[in-house]
Amino acid sequence: MRVASLKVGVPAEQVKNIWDITLLMDKRILWAPWRGEFVAGAKKEGCIFCLKGSEDDMASLIFERRGKVFGMLNRFPYNTGHIMISPYRHITSIEDLQKEEADDIFALMKDSIAVLKMEMGPEGFNIGFNVGKVAGAGFEHLHMHIVPRWTGDTNFMPVLASTKVMPEHLLKTMERIKEGFRRLNRG
Ligand SMILES: [Zn+2]
Repeated sequence: MRVASLKVGVPAEQVKNIWDITLLMDKRILWAPWRGEFVAGAKKEGCIFCLKGSEDDMASLIFERRGKVFGMLNRFPYNTGHIMISPYRHITSIEDLQKEEADDIFALMKDSIAVLKMEMGPEGFNIGFNVGKVAGAGFEHLHMHIVPRWTGDTNFMPVLASTKVMPEHLLKTMERIKEGFRRLNRG
């Protein structure tokens, strides 16, 4: 796994491989199609998880729907392969989870971790829920975060925090995760 394949300071016209390029230093955006989508989507009203659950899978970065839950890539990831698993139902507390929803979240978590390991070879994971705004939840609709970790990833992430480093393009990550689920489901 390449933790970072950044080509810092390369002019846009010299970019040969669109997957290689993300954002550059000095907050100068070279090629970041998701920003346009974010700006376009920013005016939408309502809960992003309720909206996403009913939208087109590729546009919403939903890689798997299963039972009462769905899994999608975080459009603004802490690290490559940062995924979120959410019930369709708009609930805001762990104790509001029905047994079936809780079972589906954990089953999808288990498979997501298997797929991430298979496709990206992370060395560890941060897994958890931020419950409530005070705990850092951007949206109160309950969702689990799974953040793959590699040795050394913290060396550059905080330093460039104001820049937003994206080691791999979201759609490329999406392809890999979907392929991983295809392989997993084939057994
Ligand atoms: Zn919701």
